[in-house]
Amino acid sequence: MPATPYLGRFAPSPTGPLHLGSLLAAFGSWLLARHAGGQWLVRIEDIDPPREVPGAVDSQLATLAAFGLKSDLPVQYQSRRSHLYQTAIAQLLAQDKAFACHCSRADLSSQGGIHRRCVASQQRPQAAIRLRVADGSHVSFDDALQGLQQQDVDREVGDVVLLRADGYWAYQLAVVVDDAEQGITHVVRGADLIESTARQILLQQALGLPTPGYLHLPLLLDSDGQKLSKSQAAVPVDSAQPVPVLRWLWAALGQSPTALETSTSVAETLQQAAAAFVPARLQKTSVRAPLQPPG
Ligand code: GLU
Repeated sequence: MPATPYLGRFAPSPTGPLHLGSLLAAFGSWLLARHAGGQWLVRIEDIDPPREVPGAVDSQLATLAAFGLKSDLPVQYQSRRSHLYQTAIAQLLAQDKAFACHCSRADLSSQGGIHRRCVASQQRPQAAIRLRVADGSHVSFDDALQGLQQQDVDREVGDVVLLRADGYWAYQLAVVVDDAEQGITHVVRGADLIESTARQILLQQALGLPTPGYLHLPLLLDSDGQKLSKSQAAVPVDSAQPVPVLRWLWAALGQSPTALETSTSVAETLQQAAAAFVPARLQKTSVRAPLQPPG
């Protein structure tokens, strides 16, 4: 039997323009896919309209295009995939692996913010749906870069929200359903999401879905040592000068700086990068971003 072909992905939420940190995840996941001779796709995670910024989808796709990071398959939008999330929830409810919950944030704060049983003081207009996390739900997985990771999901996270009380699908549900439905074999993303992985694995198991390989890339820190994030309005990347930015990202991924010295275009830079990429050189720990963005 031939091995399953590698399929990686980059899955931004349209909460603002891409910054260096998001581009690092995009480039890193692209490099690992190319190194494995596999494909790479882009999925827009637009399931949280209150957090969405108008124009962010187009701006993110334009930035990826300027850096030559083109989805090998048509770009998918989570906002158009509700039927898949609905089916998954229906399956879990039918098997009593999920339940409707009326607990408010105030109700939960008396329980340390972790849901282990419903303590709702009153019925809410719309219930949330949660995954029933059994006592002793210990998950461990081997991250291809960060090594062995372990989490007691029952004690540290509690019953995971799948459908929010405001009616929106939760990230954890949509990401698990889509990674499986799209046949993603390797999830490569920023280390800020490593804490979510155990609950995603638990949800995969509840739905009878396969678990992909996981690799969490180093985070970029700003000059104060804080994580660069969209919410902190980190400087958007400058698409006008993509080659120096790609070279900077390449170095931040621990790769040999001389490998991309001679390239003159984005296409040539990516071609050289794909050929020279050495996964064993990937940096495990966070990287300080330059004060002045490269470019
Ligand atoms: N949409 C998530 C984000 O932008 C990433 C999801 C993932 O890679 O699993 O933070």
